[in-house]
Amino acid sequence: MTTFQSLGLADHLLQSIRDLGFEAPTPIQVSAIPVISAGDDVAGEAQTGSGKTAAFVLPILQRLCDSPPADSPRVRVLTLAPTRELALQVAGVFTSLAKRAPRPIKVLAVIGGEPIEQQISALNRGIDVVVATPGRLLDLLGREVLDLTGLQVLVLDEADKLLDLGFSEELAALFWSIPHERQTLVFSATLPQKVLDLSADVLRDPVTVRVDDAPEGPVGIHQRVIEVHQDSRRRLLQHLLGEEGWGRTLVFVATQRATELLSAKLRKAGIWAGALHGGLAQADRVAVLAEFKSGRVSVLVATDIAARGIDVPRLGAVVNFDLPRSPRDYLHRIGRTGRAGENGVAVSFIDHSSAAHFRLIEKHSQIELPRERVPGFDLSRQAPKRSKGPAPVKGKRMSKKDKLRAQAAQAAQAEEH
Ligand code: ADP
Ligand code: MG
Repeated sequence: MTTFQSLGLADHLLQSIRDLGFEAPTPIQVSAIPVISAGDDVAGEAQTGSGKTAAFVLPILQRLCDSPPADSPRVRVLTLAPTRELALQVAGVFTSLAKRAPRPIKVLAVIGGEPIEQQISALNRGIDVVVATPGRLLDLLGREVLDLTGLQVLVLDEADKLLDLGFSEELAALFWSIPHERQTLVFSATLPQKVLDLSADVLRDPVTVRVDDAPEGPVGIHQRVIEVHQDSRRRLLQHLLGEEGWGRTLVFVATQRATELLSAKLRKAGIWAGALHGGLAQADRVAVLAEFKSGRVSVLVATDIAARGIDVPRLGAVVNFDLPRSPRDYLHRIGRTGRAGENGVAVSFIDHSSAAHFRLIEKHSQIELPRERVPGFDLSRQAPKRSKGPAPVKGKRMSKKDKLRAQAAQAAQAEEH
């Protein structure tokens, strides 16, 4: 069995690893750490919760400590993350793994929603590692207060999300500001060919490191699907929360408003529920996630900002109250549970109108789940009277594709990073 020691990591890192209670490296750590240490660019793909963060943080810290301190305080490592929550989390992993470094490694999260002046003065004092969301990063670049000319390593965490359309402009501006000679690492649980093609512009002769899923899909996550009428979903959720003993539960809905409405209703029913979405003040975002992690809030109702990368240990269940937009998002959402060798359950609610979309998700994920029904939470109550064949009034009804597109647009609008 490979040990952290045999990966050639320095003693201070081995100590920090012990402090965190990690006993052995995970498969992606075993594969990626030597390649990153060798200085190669890496495209890394491994299941949600498989320890990708430490897989890049450890060799980066090793490199920072091995090379002499820069004479001028310049940022040497930049990690991008698609959401503020993830940026804070990744910065936390850098900080805790750097705790025992022979000289201090300064880490700063650069995210929106917090006073920019504080971030600027911290940068002026000298920072080694910046973990940023793209929006705030660009803001700082625009103000010419962030010197990236000494950048040695660039990491795109949840790279596919970052390279998705919304961020591509920001990224293009970033690549103007950083040295050509650098190491670039991209990581995600899902790196489809399309994304690899896009990242070909930013990677140089990358080594692809891939830890394949088991054929039956992500390990440790029991996936279920329940047929339920739209209007009965909340009652069913309450029923399941009472019956199933899931413990901490993350519920995904499609809009910011729905997070507020549903969590308020759950609270009325005596359930400790909170809402997380991009429309909240940053302090509230941080607070509710902290309460959820500490167990003070047992149900978190969130938009897709919580779908990527967020690590909540002992998260018992993920519920897709509304289905995700894409099969890829499905994998990321359910991957919030069943992390680091734990077990979890992922439940999706479907009805007549979302059944076809869920079949698409199943097809892409190469799964086929039995449809469940829960007595008392009827689906058939208002089954659509639909005849076979095409839509009855041509041109008036939205096609399935249009509907999905409209849903996606709506959800995207509700999102904010
Ligand atoms: P990913 O980015 O692959 O989704 P994370 O890096 O967030 O996963 O790690 C998931 C969880 O696994 C975290 O709680 C992390 O502390 C833990 N972890 C990482 N590496 C190890 C290890 N070698 N042994 C035990 N736990 C680990
Ligand atoms: Mg991650």
